[in-house]
Amino acid sequence: MSGVIQPEGRCVLAVDVGGTTIKAAVVGEDGRFLSSLTAPSQADDDPVEAIRSLCRELRAHALSLGSTPAAIGVVTPGLVDERDGVVRYAANLRLRDVPLRALVSGDLGLPVVVGHDARAAGIAEATAGAAVGLDNFLLLPLGTGIAAAVVVHGVPVAGATRAAGEVGHMPVYPGGEPCSCGQRGCLEVYASAGGMARRYARRVGTSGADSQAIADAVATDPHARAVWNDATQALGTALATLTLALDPARVVLGGGLAEAGALFLDPVREALHGALAWRNPPPVLRSAFGAQAAQVGAAIMARRKAGLSVPDGWGAPDLVPPAA
Ligand SMILES: [Zn+2]
Repeated sequence: MSGVIQPEGRCVLAVDVGGTTIKAAVVGEDGRFLSSLTAPSQADDDPVEAIRSLCRELRAHALSLGSTPAAIGVVTPGLVDERDGVVRYAANLRLRDVPLRALVSGDLGLPVVVGHDARAAGIAEATAGAAVGLDNFLLLPLGTGIAAAVVVHGVPVAGATRAAGEVGHMPVYPGGEPCSCGQRGCLEVYASAGGMARRYARRVGTSGADSQAIADAVATDPHARAVWNDATQALGTALATLTLALDPARVVLGGGLAEAGALFLDPVREALHGALAWRNPPPVLRSAFGAQAAQVGAAIMARRKAGLSVPDGWGAPDLVPPAA
């Protein structure tokens, strides 16, 4: 540190907009979450206003902590144009062509970076999580749906139409069960937490069991076991295709399903191994940041936007990166 007086605590603001909840945090100079706020993303049936209002509240919150925000990072699912700061399309949030960067910047008078949630999660895992030091890896958060961060040469690939990484809609069973996207046999029909809950409900005739309940029942309930086996097989098959196309050094799985640990990861590894005859599969690991990955990524993007440094290990003062 130089002798120049720095504004006390250059925090950044990080906002992760999900289908049901917006998670927001004031993130300190060392990567610690100084304070967190959440709000429903569908409040008053206006997700854009919900996002803007939480951002304003978050800035006021940071100032009340005596910390001056240097920038804000906002990440969303869907088709996100990071260059223009526009959310082109997010089905779950009913957003279309929303100039989020201009709106939030106008509200807060701060530098704003807008990003894609899965790509942001990939940035977090590469900086301090399960993919530290890797230039080529895949991160798949397995949630309501499945989108991937496809990191190639250190950059999360966005693609020609900003739709790269939509691996949830890879056909794993051509002509299989219908997906909400209009296709059939998509990966996320079988291997997302939402898809598993729906398939289990159809088999047993009652809804309400989430992926955690299905995991708990695998040992005793043949319906749970069948849904579980289909999920891990579908994911292993999809990962084989991705491995052949991209040759990642590692595959990182996030979301609640990955929290099930070996019960989920082992059969996925077996299915991936079984689908590849002539080459070794990449290691499959669990995300280090779990549900916080996208938010940490948003904080990292905000720091870069503000010209602040992001050393390796930043964002995870309480995490020890796993051994390679
Ligand atoms: Zn689909």
